[in-house]
Amino acid sequence: MRKIVCIALFLCFVLSCSSQPFLTVKGDIPRQHNISPPGSFMYLKEVTTTQMLFVAKNGDAVAIVADSLHTASISFEEGVWNLKVKQPGVAGLHDLDYIAVERESPRYQLAVFEGLNHLFFVRPYAEILRGFEQIPLGTKAVIGYTRYKKKESGFVRFFDSIPDSLLVVTDIGEKVYTYQEFAENLVFDGSYFSMRDIPKSEVMIVWKDFPQKSIYDIYPVIAEVSPKRPLLLIFLDGLGASLLADCEARGWDIYLNKIGLEPMRTVYPATTSAAYRVVGTGNMDGFPRGPLKVFMQLDIEKAYILETSHSFVSSKYPVINHTDQNRNGTTDDEIFASALEYLDQDFDMLLVHFHGIDRGAHARGPDGMFLQRELNAVGGYVEELLKKWQGDYIIFSDHGMHFVATGGNHGRLDNMPMSVDKERYGRAWIEDMVGVIKYSIKEEAAE
Ligand SMILES: [Zn+2]
Ligand SMILES: [Zn+2]
Repeated sequence: MRKIVCIALFLCFVLSCSSQPFLTVKGDIPRQHNISPPGSFMYLKEVTTTQMLFVAKNGDAVAIVADSLHTASISFEEGVWNLKVKQPGVAGLHDLDYIAVERESPRYQLAVFEGLNHLFFVRPYAEILRGFEQIPLGTKAVIGYTRYKKKESGFVRFFDSIPDSLLVVTDIGEKVYTYQEFAENLVFDGSYFSMRDIPKSEVMIVWKDFPQKSIYDIYPVIAEVSPKRPLLLIFLDGLGASLLADCEARGWDIYLNKIGLEPMRTVYPATTSAAYRVVGTGNMDGFPRGPLKVFMQLDIEKAYILETSHSFVSSKYPVINHTDQNRNGTTDDEIFASALEYLDQDFDMLLVHFHGIDRGAHARGPDGMFLQRELNAVGGYVEELLKKWQGDYIIFSDHGMHFVATGGNHGRLDNMPMSVDKERYGRAWIEDMVGVIKYSIKEEAAE
């Protein structure tokens, strides 16, 4: 097993008047990183790495594992960068093009999804290395060094068969492409994938056979319906489609599986605040900077947001907080009681946010076996609300959840370990990205 160690490289350089002494660093690190003497090379020494690939302009490359990096040094002489290795049998490199860094926990990985399966991650370092083929080091070859030659190669092949359309999820939104458009627009810059037609995008997910329902579709429906008729929004925090599917597969008879909730692709990052922004504004503009203000564009008078003691959002409409007055460990019962009262009042929009499933899944993992209490409690509240409320409603969740050592979590790709227990963590990160949705809107609303 490879250890994480600090890079120990020694840099000598001679400044040249005719050439900029910058050397690009690619791989599992922030984009557009350069080594420039003398200061910023110190940064690389601090990076924990498993191996580094040194690539010369002629297409030769040498990968050196962390334990052997102390034998390597880089110099800048007569306008070019060179790699020198104090190791018999391993030649150095003349005129380096760039260095690529492999990290154990990269900040950035691209996830490839198909349907409700998480196929694999593409890491920048792995994608760079895929462009090279290994050549023998010779009889004196030593462990820890691998020599490569550049080969002709296109992008990683994402899928076995070419799909009609693909969903691309970036850190600022989502977009559907035909495969042709996707292939023409995808760019790999050495640290990130981005889309040529979306400036400054970072592609986080490429998704074939994606769920047709999207969290981005909720806000337009709210904006359409609530000015005409009162609309009830039931927000079930942390309810992933996979959790309901697990319950179904076990043959458990739970209310939340009987009301026609469908899988819904949610937002990246798969967090409550990002999802709230999309539900309450229709887009991810400006996320995560600035206060999270929602429903500001609605052209209605009376709207109420029933929340727990912690306010996730602010709005021009009242956000009503609830505390655990009976100290039973949840505010959901207080929120439910409050919702029953608001349903008797005159309103244009009422949002009721239940947190119990998310809390339980963080604590014990997103498995129906561990969450029967929460699923039954929240399901019971939904059942009672729908008995009382005969008007239009939308039920939705903000994200799902995946297992971690301490229970469950959701959020960003970069926190997902690369090697996962397939039985328990098999679908892994896709579980974060698929929530649930049900619209119950009278037909006239479309007029
Ligand atoms: Zn949430
Ligand atoms: Zn959560």
